[in-house]
Amino acid sequence: MKAVVVGAGVLGAGLARALARSGWRVTLVEQYDPGDARRASTSRSRLVRVAHGSDVAQTRSALESRRLWRQLERDTGAALYSEVGMAWFAPADDPSWEEDSRRTLEGECVPVEQLSPGDARRLFPELVDDDLDHVLLEPHAGVIRADAAVRALLEDAAAHGAELLRGCATPSGSEVKVGSVRLGADRIVWACGAWAQKLFPELVRGTVIQQDVLYLTVPPAWATPAVPAWGAYAEAVTGAGDFGGDGFKIGLDVAGPPADLERRDRNPVLEHEARARQYLARRFPCLASAPRRAVESCQTVLLDPLLPEPDLLLGGEVRLVRHPEREFVWLLGDGSGHAFKHAPTIAASVRDVLVA
Ligand SMILES: Cc1cc2nc3c(=O)[nH]c(=O)nc-3n(C[C@H](O)[C@H](O)[C@H](O)COP(=O)(O)OP(=O)(O)OC[C@H]3O[C@@H](n4cnc5c(N)ncnc54)[C@H](O)[C@@H]3O)c2cc1C
Repeated sequence: MKAVVVGAGVLGAGLARALARSGWRVTLVEQYDPGDARRASTSRSRLVRVAHGSDVAQTRSALESRRLWRQLERDTGAALYSEVGMAWFAPADDPSWEEDSRRTLEGECVPVEQLSPGDARRLFPELVDDDLDHVLLEPHAGVIRADAAVRALLEDAAAHGAELLRGCATPSGSEVKVGSVRLGADRIVWACGAWAQKLFPELVRGTVIQQDVLYLTVPPAWATPAVPAWGAYAEAVTGAGDFGGDGFKIGLDVAGPPADLERRDRNPVLEHEARARQYLARRFPCLASAPRRAVESCQTVLLDPLLPEPDLLLGGEVRLVRHPEREFVWLLGDGSGHAFKHAPTIAASVRDVLVA
């Protein structure tokens, strides 16, 4: 069987590898160089958690993906995943997401600890806990080297025969057009991230917004893994200590301005940094004025809620949609902004759908 996959972000690269390892002849088309800042998968690190509230399907997807990320490390020899733990700050006024997560994790036999705020103080050099009910610790959660992980997927795909073609693809009848080259295949998958709606405006609609992750220069006591990754679900803020010299990480999952998909050097949104520092002033006050080391400006797609249901909803709320006029053509994409961790399970599920 022959497949063309367009887009070598974590979803396209993961799928190309899964198909190549299953004996398919795969061509993976990508418009940019590896590590280009315009793709959503480009980052120093992404957080890998299993907790998903009461959602058992997402919990299982994240758990299986973590196993598969470790398998990728064994297959390629690349060091990608660091099990630094993740602490969730459960607010006193509504700790329900963390309570649901604990019950679901326990039901799936995933180790998890419920710490009193006082006990959680040992995890951080400083922690203001007067608004917390408890802290939920996922000891096996962690951070993954995102750029290295995508590279490892690509290298393993190539080692199993996948061909990487550099260029900008467009749909052309039942083929994929890349410059003067036309590619036909038994299955075509467009895994084009935020670019999908330009290519298939009739099937994908949404707003592409910019989101920034801030890295701060902090004292050595804030280094991860001594300091775990952390998150406040209700406030949509996550981060980690200084991992490998990247700097202390903080990102807010908030609606930013429209992202310019053509620009590699986007201007960070000043309000994002101000809100991140406001959060630090409450939780880790000694870091509120720490010097900025770097900012990663990335994009997320807020999908139009009126879009029809996808054919399959995968981990990270990633959608798999079959083209209504060409049954061997599929669109694979993310409408949630937390798909990185789920990518290996998504790849295996989509491969099975394509085979079927
Ligand atoms: C600020 C931020 C923080 C995040 N943090 C986390 C986290 O901690 N944990 C987590 O699990 N997830 C996280 N995510 C989400 C995660 O990064 C994304 O869900 C994931 O990277 C999406 O991957 P993708 O392959 O769909 O998209 P992309 O990485 O954008 O890949 C799409 C690719 O398609 C290519 N392409 C598009 N059109 C064409 C064309 N016509 N021809 C050729 N190539 C084309 C693009 O160049 C690009 O390389 C975060 C996202 C953001 C924005």
